[in-house]
Amino acid sequence: MKSISLLGASGSIGTQTLNILDQHPDQFRLVACTVGKNIDKVREIIEKYSPKLVSVQKKEDAEQLKLEYDGKVTILYGEEGLVEAAVHPEAEMVVNAVIGSVGLYPTLQAIKEKKTIALANKETLVTAGHIVMEEAKNHGVSILPVDSEHSAIFQCLQGEKEKNIERLVLTASGGSFRDRTREQLKGVSVDEALNHPNWSMGAKITIDSATMMNKGLEVIEAHWLFHLPYEQIDVILHRESIIHSMVEFHDSSVIAQLGTPDMRVPIMYALSYPDRLPLPQASRLSLTEIGQLHFEKMDMNRFRCLQFAYEAGRQGGTFPTVLNAANEVAVAAFLERKIEFLQIEDLIEQALSRHESIEHPDLTTIQEVDKETRNYVQTLLSHT
Ligand code: MG
Repeated sequence: MKSISLLGASGSIGTQTLNILDQHPDQFRLVACTVGKNIDKVREIIEKYSPKLVSVQKKEDAEQLKLEYDGKVTILYGEEGLVEAAVHPEAEMVVNAVIGSVGLYPTLQAIKEKKTIALANKETLVTAGHIVMEEAKNHGVSILPVDSEHSAIFQCLQGEKEKNIERLVLTASGGSFRDRTREQLKGVSVDEALNHPNWSMGAKITIDSATMMNKGLEVIEAHWLFHLPYEQIDVILHRESIIHSMVEFHDSSVIAQLGTPDMRVPIMYALSYPDRLPLPQASRLSLTEIGQLHFEKMDMNRFRCLQFAYEAGRQGGTFPTVLNAANEVAVAAFLERKIEFLQIEDLIEQALSRHESIEHPDLTTIQEVDKETRNYVQTLLSHT
């Protein structure tokens, strides 16, 4: 029985993680979790899983829940609650499925407490990959990827040596606007952008897929997880999302991981690693039914955010932090219908071009740069 702390339990990854717990109640136990503002979800989780600790975003919600569940479960709130959930003494594994750079600090605290990390929060490695990987190494902690691409690479590397890798090939579905030219992206709506062809995911990541920033963040994440320079990480467009990523070795052999697009597969692999558990609900891959798989070269001019991510990653320092923070604010503004789709990349470009990078930033510097970038982009937004 593995005891789990789940950060971000009401989101897309969180909900699918709970679904896995439902299918294997003899394997996993939920000891702590955090939820944003969905209080009904908290009630449902408390009734069903009896966690020891639950944390929500707002103080008022925490107070209401305390009235309802006083004595039965510890109720906390805010960033402090997020950390308390991450370091819960009974948790062996922390599934970090929160959205945004708010996921960084709890991850670091959990690493210090020697919890195994199942990481779905990309921003943790994007903004502070050098610190997170160093801390994980120092504390002998495994960071298990939950993202489908990194899980694919991780699976391809079982029994392999990192020194034999020639390159990683991340696949990208292309997102909701893959068949549109830049000209055709003018004036696209939020609903159109949220309509992803293959994957069912949260709003932020679906927009990130449409701008290709999601793949950019994944490239940076792969750089840290698998210790490879950016020159050895490629992205190709693969519209069926059947090959989730692949590894080419020095001898020219390529190993790929395939499957129908279902996030529960990579989530469960992280939860059950190094074992595998059955997932009867997942639809089976039938290559004969699919017939053909398609691959295209990525167009960096069409998908400028991918280019930004490669540049920010190569330059290093605080550039990836700026990339991520500017993107978070810009995507939120687009979802609130304050800006046009193409302005997302304009805002990111402006934030990056004015930034003077700080080399080897510590956590405080990263947090400062993150905050400063958010303020800067907000200022730009107030002028639009
Ligand atoms: Mg992914």
